[in-house]
Amino acid sequence: MHTKTIAQLSAALRSGEVSSVELTTLFLERIKQHNPALNCFISITETQALEAAVAADQRLKAGNGAPLTGVPIAHKDIFCTQDVKTTCGSRMLDNFIAPYESTCTASFRDAGAVMLGKTNMDEFAMGSSNETSYYGAVKNPWDQGRVPGGSSGGSVAAVAARLAPAATGTDTGGSIRQPAALCGLTGLKPTYGRVSRFGMIAFASSLDQAGPVTYNAEDAALMMNVMAGFDERDSTSVEREVPDYSANLDNGIKGLKIGLPKEYFGEGLDDNIARVIDAAVKEYEALGAVVTEISLPNTGLAVPIYYVVAPAECSTNLSRFDGVRFGHRCDDPQDLFDLYTRSRGEGFGAEVKRRIMIGTYVLSAGYYDAYYLKAQKIRRLISEDFHAAFEKVDVIMGPTAPGTAFKLGEKADDPVTMYLSDIYTIAVNMAGLPAVSIPAGFVDGLPVGLQVIGNYFDESRLLNVAHKYQQATDWHLQLPKEFQ
Ligand code: GLN
Repeated sequence: MHTKTIAQLSAALRSGEVSSVELTTLFLERIKQHNPALNCFISITETQALEAAVAADQRLKAGNGAPLTGVPIAHKDIFCTQDVKTTCGSRMLDNFIAPYESTCTASFRDAGAVMLGKTNMDEFAMGSSNETSYYGAVKNPWDQGRVPGGSSGGSVAAVAARLAPAATGTDTGGSIRQPAALCGLTGLKPTYGRVSRFGMIAFASSLDQAGPVTYNAEDAALMMNVMAGFDERDSTSVEREVPDYSANLDNGIKGLKIGLPKEYFGEGLDDNIARVIDAAVKEYEALGAVVTEISLPNTGLAVPIYYVVAPAECSTNLSRFDGVRFGHRCDDPQDLFDLYTRSRGEGFGAEVKRRIMIGTYVLSAGYYDAYYLKAQKIRRLISEDFHAAFEKVDVIMGPTAPGTAFKLGEKADDPVTMYLSDIYTIAVNMAGLPAVSIPAGFVDGLPVGLQVIGNYFDESRLLNVAHKYQQATDWHLQLPKEFQ
């Protein structure tokens, strides 16, 4: 049962083959068994999960279940969940019990999905390896000496190890797609504004977006049917009809125009990864797609620009953690200044402090024009590269990450090398576009992800394109040995 997709579990729940209480118990047991080694969960919400499962079983029996009713899932610990500890991977929020529910998690709750727990993550979603978490690193189920990627590393490792059938993640510069690639899963970052950010702890507000982590595209569609939609409590959420993401999965892709950006296949890309991506593109050609080379000339500027924009936004967002209203407060403050500085000094880890310092610097009066304003202008150029490309092609393909999962500690002391893990994912957030990473093969036993980037609000097409590939290949069906 633990290897089934959400679609299969949903069918099993409906037919009465299994109850939600049985399923929830099964996954809670798996979490208890494997979490001590993998460290995917910060909180396991066993009591609430079993209560929700009982309610789901009643709803299913009464015949008014929704597709996700009774299905257990995990949520990244960046989403506020009412009366449940919500840490964002930080000591700053180690004592924070959220007084309200995020719109995203509320949608799952209302659909009858059962929350198993809250997953580990890089502190305030800043990282690409899950090593910046106050709660310790997460291990990659494919090789426990390696990182699962980040920042949604806990969500992704939990699903890869089959401790949960699916999970939510968030993606500011690659945090759903890069870990999905490193753990052999399907991870979708929707168009900016498609999923509400209300109650999702902010890192870089103009880039953050929530999305699903699943085994396959069919399940991602089921998750998107729940998460997507307008929310008046998020001023950047877009009022636009939500399609049925499951409706077009089976459409043929004959004549689909695929663009391969030459900048994504140059220096810095591991040869073995390049071969996997080439083979995936050939598979698409066999399915009738037409491939052309395109250019995204400003690709090289995406990472440097991101490390101006994202820290700038994080430095303002994180100013709310002042030791006064909520979160960590130092002992015996001498005066107000001491309260602020020691609370923040103790509550935040090194990477978060680094970002706050960079952000404060680039926003300061003397440097704003030179850094922040300039970065915004380049951000526009990056978006325009994509707009021009989508005049010619339907989707853009390339690798999700430049390498496979790296060893724990390998890049931890070298921020710039770590930042380059997101070289293919960051520009997508700068432009606000949707993109999905799907399993496309292995190098030395470690999963490799293919990234498919779409035009604005073209998630249905992305899921269709991913689904057709998953019908023709079985990469997404491979399981790490210990967790079969
Ligand atoms: N790895 C990138 C960073 O450290 C992106 C993180 C994310 O998408 N949340 O900022």
